Amino acid sequence: MSRLDSFIRRMTAQRDILDQVCAEVAKMDGPVIELGLGNGRTFHHLRERLPGRRIVAFDRALAAHASSIPEPENLVLGEIRETATRFIGIDAALVHADIGTGYEDRDAVTSTWLPDLTARLLRVGGIAVSGTPLDHPRLQRLPPPPSVPADRYFVCRRV
Ligand code: SAM
Repeated sequence: MSRLDSFIRRMTAQRDILDQVCAEVAKMDGPVIELGLGNGRTFHHLRERLPGRRIVAFDRALAAHASSIPEPENLVLGEIRETATRFIGIDAALVHADIGTGYEDRDAVTSTWLPDLTARLLRVGGIAVSGTPLDHPRLQRLPPPPSVPADRYFVCRRV
């Protein structure tokens, strides 16, 4: 499969999963945590799907399109492993983590700290969506939508 095909599949999977979980998150109190603002495309999508919901976005540096920049109080810059720790206990309804690199060794390092951080950011019943695995005793794996290939994206509920 070409990298273009793979990219299209990843974007389609991301959109389908976010649409599926937003229907549930809409009925739940709690902010949304966007780990990896990047260009801001998924932030923009979440803002459309969950109007009025607080979305706190994190990245090393601001590189988002002008249409997709959070309010200053909801933009947190720096290393997520450090900055997001300050938000533990925020009882998020949704944590969306899009910080995979496509490099196995780098993503393996992320997997050593992201699952525990995610579990601590979520409220009980809250949902996590991630491009890298979220193996953690408090994160119960949920099936992704049928259009999403297995092990491309990970959806979990905080138990
Ligand atoms: N979901 C975004 C979108 O739709 O535009 C794209 C996110 S992009 C794939 C990943 C972003 O995560 C990059 O902007 C990168 O700087 C950021 N990132 C990755 N690991 C990070 C870390 N450990 N701390 C802070 N930012 C990180």
